[in-house]
Amino acid sequence: MADPLTDGADVSALLRLVADAAAEYLSELDGPLRLESSDEAAESFGGPLPEDGDGPFEPIRELLDRGLDAHVRSSGPRFFHWVIGGVTPAALAADWLTSTIDQNAGGWDATPIGARLETVSLGWLRELFGLPAEWGGVLTTGATMANFAGLAAARQWWGEQHGADVRNTGLAGLPAVPVFTSGWVHVTALKALSMLGIGRHAVTNCVADETGRLDLDQLDRRLRELGGAPAIVIGNAGEVNAGHFDPIDQIADLTERHGAWLHVDGAFGLFARVSPRTAALADGVERAQSVISDGHKWLNVPYDCGFAFVRDTSHLAGAFVAGADYLPESEDERPVYGFLGPELSRRARSLAVWATLKAYGRSGYRAVVERCLDNAAHLRDIVEQSDELELLAAVPLNIVCFRYRRDELSEEELDELNLAIGERSLKDGRVYMGTTRWAGKVAFRPAFVNFRTTRADTELIAETVCDLGRQIAPVRASA
Ligand SMILES: *Cc1c(COP(=O)(O)O)cnc(C)c1O
Repeated sequence: MADPLTDGADVSALLRLVADAAAEYLSELDGPLRLESSDEAAESFGGPLPEDGDGPFEPIRELLDRGLDAHVRSSGPRFFHWVIGGVTPAALAADWLTSTIDQNAGGWDATPIGARLETVSLGWLRELFGLPAEWGGVLTTGATMANFAGLAAARQWWGEQHGADVRNTGLAGLPAVPVFTSGWVHVTALKALSMLGIGRHAVTNCVADETGRLDLDQLDRRLRELGGAPAIVIGNAGEVNAGHFDPIDQIADLTERHGAWLHVDGAFGLFARVSPRTAALADGVERAQSVISDGHKWLNVPYDCGFAFVRDTSHLAGAFVAGADYLPESEDERPVYGFLGPELSRRARSLAVWATLKAYGRSGYRAVVERCLDNAAHLRDIVEQSDELELLAAVPLNIVCFRYRRDELSEEELDELNLAIGERSLKDGRVYMGTTRWAGKVAFRPAFVNFRTTRADTELIAETVCDLGRQIAPVRASA
């Protein structure tokens, strides 16, 4: 029988096994993105619950062997699907320590260091993003839950405007919550609204064109039509298909004029503020009531991590406080973060956030952001100079929205071809991308957020797309 208390396993040998494998792994991070056998390797895991365990070495060896055969090198420099960051060395080491000391970051009593570093990290992040120092905030599992936290604060405020304490009485008996946004709203903001009982159908998209761009006049008109009734506006600072921005400053003019709550989703786009080259894209976020971003994207800390900032902390506390006799009271200097977000027991994510900010500072992150901007600009130039590639949208930040093209192919055939290239790229192993649609057209949208990605990695995107396009297109032309 393997009992973790008495089996006598050598923990330091176990950890050394992983540390050695990790060091080797990191030295090969630019290897093939995925093995062809990865699906089978994943499915080789299974079977009934072991009656008597194997002891700790056997499962760790299996993970290092068959487990790694089934993984995707998504933290490496050539993974451009979705928006996925890597892990800085400082964040990785701090994250290992986090698991080792296994703190519950619900409150100061359980972890002075976890709580203190959450306060310090949130302060540093506000400085990094140029947000007012007085704002409150909380670390979350990601932007989905950060959207949830910001919009929960918005819902609490909205209830107060109607003389209701939504935390205690819910939304029953109140009118529908009016929510306005552009076509660029992220699905997770809608999911958050659904989890909050506001519902996706409460949302009106004020859309000016087929890309989903905000119609500011329509937003103004709709807010005016409410005649002073409270509303929530979601501004999108960096949408996922082309990295475009709603005009947050102009939205803030309207929300201030009409007394609405402005929530800004800046899951990766808030990092535009880290470089003077792009800071203006997110002008006005400092005028919002709530602003969120992700840690596991451009901050390059491990999964999972996000952050929500709220101008007036009382709305966050109003939504999430959960007192009990055995739990501590929140104090200004020592906030109980378990009462400022959805979970009470939480991983001490602050150690990794603090460590990476302390290790690399403002200038290190500016270098990371600007390298990603340079990579995006370089790919844009390659696309513009290529006869086989077509840029589909401007590149304001870190995403390049483009497609493969052949003059002889119809729009429908181009969509099919680009879908086929996208699918093939997931198996190809050189770069990992997948597809989206922009203004109806199937497109690639590599997103640059990994601190490791080089100019050569960037060039490989265009090379691979052209290569796969040529492989697939002749076959189709003769069919
Ligand atoms: C990634 C993303 C989200 C969701 O973030 P998760 O960390 O995956 O929960 C929300 N909004 C935008 C704009 C995003 O890019």
